[in-house]
This record gives sequence, structure tokens and C-alpha cells, in this order.
Amino acid sequence: MTLQEIINDSKRVVFFGGAGVSTESGIPDFRSVDGLYNQKYDYPPETILSHTFFMNKTEDFYKFYRDKMLCLTAKPNKAHLKLAEMEKAGKLTAIVTQNIDGLHQAAGSKNVYELHGSVLRNYCMKCHKPYAVEDILNGSGVPKCTCGGTIKPDVVLYEEGLDNDTVEGAIECISRADCLIIAGTSLTVYPAAGMVRYFRGKHLVLINRDPTPMDEMCELVLHDKVGEVLDKIVL
Ligand SMILES: [Zn+2]
Repeated sequence: MTLQEIINDSKRVVFFGGAGVSTESGIPDFRSVDGLYNQKYDYPPETILSHTFFMNKTEDFYKFYRDKMLCLTAKPNKAHLKLAEMEKAGKLTAIVTQNIDGLHQAAGSKNVYELHGSVLRNYCMKCHKPYAVEDILNGSGVPKCTCGGTIKPDVVLYEEGLDNDTVEGAIECISRADCLIIAGTSLTVYPAAGMVRYFRGKHLVLINRDPTPMDEMCELVLHDKVGEVLDKIVL
């Protein structure tokens, strides 16, 4: 079956997306070799984006974070737009994403499970007052709440656990889906591989530039750009 035939045959599509979905909007992939590893920083991104680093070197964290993580000029691409259309048309029940850029919601998607949180939400660690991303971007040094507490992005850092409700909601949607499209992820990163095991539906589709360990399990594998592939779907 082609992707179009699979979509025609499905009523409850769930889309599981990784970094590859956002790179087409110009947002760098932290885990790819041509990503940020080769850039000039005192520490590797995985160290900077860890809970320990945030707590101990908060100012250095924010220097990197403002510079590299807040791509607020990024716009939804063809993949985001088509998925929002599919939800409106009643074809797609949920998006599960590893990305933290909020681009699915910007494209109009409503039911989005953000496994790793969102840069658009920020909270005071002391009184939990919410702050907009602009408050982080436009400030300098360590962003502080009016109460004096430190503001932290609602992003899951390395060493931190995922939000339980988000994980459970995502698994629930995946287990009820009749079609699961995995895209832009190599599926080697927790929890992607584990969550896919909850899928019991008919059509398992994988769209990724490079081959993944999951390729052989899937009904359809497309080694292509996610936006290009999804854009061709006719609803
Ligand atoms: Zn506060």
C-alpha cells in the first residue's frame, strides 16, 4: 500500500515525531553529527542541557539556551500544516512529539503530547508563576521571578523524568490508533522505541531520512523528508 492508500484506509492516525520534523523548519537537531556537537562551546549540549548543569551553572545554561534553543522565528513547515489539516478533517487523533518548539500548535494542531515539554512555557521554581518565552529571551543573565525565585523552562532536561500524564495520554492514543506514523526520529532515544510497542493497529509507517532499527517492522518505510512526504497526502 502507498501512504495515500494507508491514510484512506485509516480513521485514527497518530503521528509520532522527532527532531527531523523540526529541522525542516530550520531548528537544529542536537543529536545529529552536523548539529550542535561541532559548534564552539565549553561543554557538549547534553551536559549543558542537564538538570545538574542547570542547577549549578544557571547563567551558562541560559547563555546557551537563549542562543541555541530559542528559535522563535521558526515557522511551521509542510509537515506541521498537513498534520493540523488531518486533525481538522477527523483523520488524526493525536500528535506525540519529542520537539519542544510548539510548532504543531502554531500550525493549528490541538491534541499534542509534548514528551519533552515546551520552550513556550516557563515557571518560577519557587512560586510556580508562569512566564512567557519573551520574558526569557529579552532578559539577560538568569531570569528571575518577582518573588526572587529562578525561572525554569518547562523543558525536560537530561536526568529529569518525563511528565506522567503526558506519557500516559500519549500511550493511550497510540494504543487506540489504527495507523501510527513515526517520523523524523531514529527511534534509538528513550522513550520513543518503548512507546511504539503499545501500537496494536493495522498500519505502521516510518518516514526518516536515514534507516532506523525499526525499518523491518514497518509496513511502509520512506527514506525522505517528512514535509515533502506528508505534503502529497490528499484528504
Ligand atoms: Zn516566583
